[in-house]
Amino acid sequence: MIKFLDIQGINASFEPRLSQVVKSVIDSGWYLLGEEVSQFEMEYKKYIGTSECIGVANGLDALRLILRSYKELGVMQDGDEVIVPANTYIASLLAISDNGLKPILVEPNINTFNIDSSKIEERITPKTKALMVVHLYGLNAMNDELTRIAKKYKLKIIEDNAQAAGAYYKNNRTGSLGDAAGHSFYPGKNLGAIGDAGAVTTNDEELAITLRSLANYGSREKYVNEYKGLNSRIDELQAAVLRIKLARLDEDNQRRREIANYYIENIHNKNIVLPEVRGQKNLTVLEEHVWHLFVIRSQSRDSLQNYLNKNNIQTLVHYPIAPHLQNAYKELNQQNYPITEKIHKEVLSLPLSPIMPKTEVKKVVAFLNKFNM
Ligand SMILES: *Cc1c(COP(=O)(O)O)cnc(C)c1O
Repeated sequence: MIKFLDIQGINASFEPRLSQVVKSVIDSGWYLLGEEVSQFEMEYKKYIGTSECIGVANGLDALRLILRSYKELGVMQDGDEVIVPANTYIASLLAISDNGLKPILVEPNINTFNIDSSKIEERITPKTKALMVVHLYGLNAMNDELTRIAKKYKLKIIEDNAQAAGAYYKNNRTGSLGDAAGHSFYPGKNLGAIGDAGAVTTNDEELAITLRSLANYGSREKYVNEYKGLNSRIDELQAAVLRIKLARLDEDNQRRREIANYYIENIHNKNIVLPEVRGQKNLTVLEEHVWHLFVIRSQSRDSLQNYLNKNNIQTLVHYPIAPHLQNAYKELNQQNYPITEKIHKEVLSLPLSPIMPKTEVKKVVAFLNKFNM
């Protein structure tokens, strides 16, 4: 069986160091707000290229806390609007609605799967306060048009960098491109913990101070509470694991790019549309894509998935139901996003990981090339 993502194998490739640090955290007797967390925050902000990094409990909390901080700072109020791609994982929207803000959906570009910046301005109102830029499937979504729009309408740019750890846009990492960014270290992400973990990066010191307090019961000084905060922290164990894995992230992403390149050059089937190849020409230059997912499109997606499954190749659909069609967002169910809906009907994610053997990659290609609906 070719696994979609061999997480066990990935973590095994970091042994024996992973088990050693886990043991040393256990032996230390110190599990929260300690040295591993502050070291990880330092290393991660250096990696991303921001002045601030705050470890939090998960990626959703990272985004929730950014918006909550802006509310505490008076930048946003209940009922304000945040532009977000219609084609995203639902967490991007949950962070917005959880804060009493309104998600305003914008269609993606069908080739990149990322937000279509030419469709944003028509959805801006006096209540619009932010653009949530999601670097979906690992591809940078930032561009000059987004910067221009944000400037013109004085919008905050919040990056959802959950899927794009390590990607670049014009010599800068995603996660350093806007006003603040949320990161996820969910085990299956490019930089994965062994449980839930997340972080916020920003160059805004005031935002960082507010957010750190909000994530810690609304308190900066023990037992003194300035906000009705939450408890959303990264723990020492996850931080220690992430420090080890961060050191190999660029190498791992490069391996992902090599596999993606092989797929792109070798999959030839008129029933399959391959993802946009940007920054792929020269593997030594800075790259916009870290291939969290390798997503193809096919009008016979379901039969393609069955066929691969029968041939012991595991694939997944990211995602089967668009956020605006979920029961959780009944208020959005009547809206129409035909490109998003088409994407959700046609996408299929192929196996891809930094430890995937070449023989498996070749086998996937061979079966895809033999597929006819
Ligand atoms: C994974 C993910 C999140 C949420 O991260 P968690 O750590 O699972 O809470 C948010 N946005 C996107 C696009 C994601 O893929």
